[in-house]
Amino acid sequence: MKVDLNRTSLTKLDWNPDSCEDFESRRSIAQSVLGGITWESDEEGHLKCPGQHLHTSPSHKKDCTIFVDGVPNIFCFHQSCREEVAKINQLLKSEIRDEETITHPNEITTREKLVSLPRTEPNRFEYDLITAAKTDKPYLIKKYNWDPADAFEESPTSIGDNPNQEWRLLLGLYEKTDIIWIGKEYSSGKPEHAKHFKTVSEWLDCEKIIVPFTCPSIFKPGSYSRSKDQILAQRYLVVESDDLSHEESCSLFKWMRQFMRLRAIINTGGKSLHAWFEPPNSEQEAELRIILPALGFDSAMFRLSQPCRLPGVVRLDAQKDPLLGLPVYQSLLWLDLEGIA
Ligand SMILES: [Zn+2]
Repeated sequence: MKVDLNRTSLTKLDWNPDSCEDFESRRSIAQSVLGGITWESDEEGHLKCPGQHLHTSPSHKKDCTIFVDGVPNIFCFHQSCREEVAKINQLLKSEIRDEETITHPNEITTREKLVSLPRTEPNRFEYDLITAAKTDKPYLIKKYNWDPADAFEESPTSIGDNPNQEWRLLLGLYEKTDIIWIGKEYSSGKPEHAKHFKTVSEWLDCEKIIVPFTCPSIFKPGSYSRSKDQILAQRYLVVESDDLSHEESCSLFKWMRQFMRLRAIINTGGKSLHAWFEPPNSEQEAELRIILPALGFDSAMFRLSQPCRLPGVVRLDAQKDPLLGLPVYQSLLWLDLEGIA
């Protein structure tokens, strides 16, 4: 079940904003993005704030400054324009970076990987990674565009048309002797909850499952709690977002497939899709813990005991399908059982 994750690492440097020595091209890109700029020096100028219409106090000529050295950015003294200024900064930075990476063809291959810098200063490293993730997000969504309907069509393992049995397919991701938890959110913590921890074989003997959650980790024999000390191993990392649309999530899952093996996508019947990946190595995990939340994913997913939606179960809190009036299932959208015994 192990996949070689080291072949592709996130840690590829693809643009060094400090390597620029002649700022002429940066000044002209800035000019085309922002309009008129009064240059005070090679790398600094003043301009009309792009969020000036949002200012709540009078605007002055030198309120807004642009710097094109280092990471190019504009800075305005007003607070009320901050969101607008941040947006423009993202655009300015990506335009300049595109230009500078395109003129160095041997670096283009790593263009789609997020920038990361040497970890000499942890805070700086984290800050840069978050900035890179936020800047790259629209680019990644566009480049790896993946419509959920297409994902369904492309599922390597056939999902079939027996919605209330899909949990069986998901259990195919485990070994038969693995002990997994299936239950309601709070079916954990007391000896009476032991019945929610069974081997995969035992679960497969059940005719039907109506409780909605499972957990991507496997447990020690005799477990009755999803607590850390009863977890035997992490089998999967489940990535989800309540903020991204299904299409955005799916596209970012496709990007993540460049460096992690995707095993399943589950449509929760609610706001989110859940992607089940084989766990990243520790170096990747350290970066993903910073990058994924910056892309809009839920940071709770790194908790090994996090309950996740089990497919093949009716989602009780969901509204019935508005067209057909039928209950909504938590369902498999995509599944890859290849190479798993
Ligand atoms: Zn402003």
